[in-house]
Order: sequence, then C-alpha cells, then structure tokens
Amino acid sequence: MKFQRIAGGIALAALAASAVAAQAEKVVILAGHVIAGPDGERSGPATITVVDDKIESIVPGNQPVDGADKIVDLSSKTVLPGLIDLHVHLGSDPSGDWWREAIETDEWITLTNAKNARLTAKAGFTTVRDVGNDPRASAAQVRAEAMGWFPGPRIIWAGMPLSTIGGHGDVHGFRPEVMAALEGQNTCTGADECAALTRKTVREGAAVVKFMATGGVLSQGDKSLGQAFTDSEMTSIIETSHALGVPVAAHAHADAGIHAATMAGVDTIEHGTFLSEATAKEMKAHGTVLVPTLLAFKGIGEQLGKGFYTPAVEDKIRQTLGVFGQGCRRARAAGVTVAFGTDSGVTAHGRNAEEFELLVDKCGMSPREALASATTVAAKVLGMDQQIGRLAPGYSADIIAVEGNPLEDATALQHVDWVMAQGKIVD
Ligand SMILES: [Zn+2]
Repeated sequence: MKFQRIAGGIALAALAASAVAAQAEKVVILAGHVIAGPDGERSGPATITVVDDKIESIVPGNQPVDGADKIVDLSSKTVLPGLIDLHVHLGSDPSGDWWREAIETDEWITLTNAKNARLTAKAGFTTVRDVGNDPRASAAQVRAEAMGWFPGPRIIWAGMPLSTIGGHGDVHGFRPEVMAALEGQNTCTGADECAALTRKTVREGAAVVKFMATGGVLSQGDKSLGQAFTDSEMTSIIETSHALGVPVAAHAHADAGIHAATMAGVDTIEHGTFLSEATAKEMKAHGTVLVPTLLAFKGIGEQLGKGFYTPAVEDKIRQTLGVFGQGCRRARAAGVTVAFGTDSGVTAHGRNAEEFELLVDKCGMSPREALASATTVAAKVLGMDQQIGRLAPGYSADIIAVEGNPLEDATALQHVDWVMAQGKIVD
C-alpha cells in the first residue's frame, strides 16, 4: 500500500506496448445507470467517453458524440468500475492431484495462465494480484496483453511464494531424482537466506513478495496450519522487500503466524482463518490489511468427502470450515481494512464475484461495503487509488456493465455483461 514499483516484467511490457502504439481511439459508452464509485449513489443515464486506455469524460444523459470510433449501447445496464481481486493463481486450476506439480510443464502453466486471465477479465475483474505462479508465465502474460494480442486483467504478480523447507509451497514427497529438479527453488532458512531469496524474487520481476507464514490447507506434507517461518525470518523477508520498495503478502491460517507476520510489518494477511481478537487489534494498530479469500473455503467445502482431496487435506479442510468467516468478522469488528481476494485457482477462475455474497453472508458487510472492498479499498492496497477503482476522468478505462444494482444486491456482480480492460473491450 505504501510502495509502488515498476516491475521488470511490466517495464518490458511497456516497452512492447510503445512499439505497437497506434493513433488515438475514441469509444463512447451510453450507460443506463452509472456507479462511479462505491461511496456514491447510482445515477441515471450517462455518456462515458474513453480515449485509448483512459476515461476522458462522464456526462449526464445519453448524448450524441462526434468523432467516435465506436459507440457501445449499455443503456439498459448499470455501468461501474472494473473489479479488483487481490488473491488469484492464474497458472493453476482446481485439482486434488497434488502430484501434478511434478508433471506439469512450464509451457502448460503458461497456456493455463492465458486461459484463466481471459476468464477472469470476462467475469469483470480488470486488475488482479497473482500471489503464486510461475514468474515467467506471469511476465509473458503481462507482455502479451500489452502487445494487444489478447485483452486481460492488469496483473500485479508475486512469482513463487517463499516457503520453509517442508512447509506450504515446498512441494515434496516425490522420487529423489524428481526432487533434485524441484527442490530448494523457493525455500529459505535463516535471515540471510531469506533476504537473498527475497532479492532474487524481486529480481525476477515480482511487484509483491508473498511468503507462507503458516502451513496450508491443500498441501500434503506440512503437519499443521501453525507458524512456519520464525519471527526473524519473517522480519528479514519483509525488511528486505520493503527496502526494495515492494510490499509483502503473508499466507497465514494460525493466529500465531498472523500475529508474527503482523508484528514483523507485513502489508496484507491472506486468509487469516484463525485470527484472534487480540491479533485483530494488532493488525488495526499496524495498518495491516486482511484479504479473507472466503470463496476458497466455499470451494474446498464443495469438494469435501468426494475423494477429491487426500485424507490429510480433508482433515485440515474440516478445521478451517469450523470457523468459516470468523477471521473476517473479527477483523471488521476491530476496524481492520478488509480487501477483496478469492484464491481463484482453488476454485475455478471466473467464479470470483461469488466472494461478494460471502462477504455479506459470512462477514457481515453491506453490498456497498463488499463492492468497495473490490474497488476503492483494493485500489488503495495496491497504491493505485488515483488510477483504478472508480470511474472518473483520467482514470484507467476499466469498466464493466451488469443488470440490477450492485449497491443493493451483492449477487448482481455474478453476471457481467460487458467488460473493458485498460480501454480494450474483452469479448
Ligand atoms: Zn492462494
């Protein structure tokens, strides 16, 4: 939130985009209603003019416009800002087959990434934070989108999350010769190794660093959901990353891990499952944001008992479902900022907007607050609140259209009829 950085992959993409720059294109949108941001009311008919990738003007009424290259008739729809998901994994699809990690090729991950980027954009999500993916797949996707090969969401990516040996994210349990190829790429032990791995991650182009503060639900080996990295390792990762101007996200289920990451200065806690009231107060005091990923819990609950996951994983799923939404509710009660994230990849990409209903039902938000979590609030977490998260002149042309009124009905966002991402219509 306090940091912004041009990642290597993004810089390369910008270079590629400048090579294909064409003359300005003007698109005029005739909107039935407009929600410019979650803090205002839904207006009546309006005309939105987009030039290239930016909103130029929004004026009342459906006005005739001179010199439009394209006119989009959304006069029966509600038009609002493109949505932001702070926790996705575009390179992966839902799977109980943990051994796939040993057989999937980088090329397959890249194609999976492209498929899911499109599904995500079509679902109305025009900005995502990918907090666990092959860094080269993420960089290739960003570059291809900038080239205009296919539209997709703006991607702020972490590459490989940092893990402890044997912890969540350290895939293991294979034959020694397979392990020799997999092992040690994203694990570190002790402050020095963790500082070095953080620098390597940022050198790859990561615009956010992600680390596994605790065990994980879907990993086989880590015995519990408890704290993984030591306090000093977490401090090393966070201080090193912040010194490079890169914010840090911590995957954390157990309260001890949430507490340790918070005290070490992490920017966002992902999941926050077993958050205590005392730690919620610390998060509030430190300005730490919670990204609760409620959809992930819904998704794993849907597959429970169907032979999809191994018994060890099913046991951990039952533990987390016993407190479904509790961490989110405690965070809100303590005044902690709660921002939108789904963990898509655990569930099928494109279902992202189901999170809105869960934020209302399981966390007590109003539909308006839920919409804010995926627009203005998430934009602020990314340090991009002057560019995305609302419709206003000068803002990025990230625009969607739905039936109904999302300020009153959190399910209205589950059916997105039209999407523009950075000025490009997604069809
Ligand atoms: Zn995740």
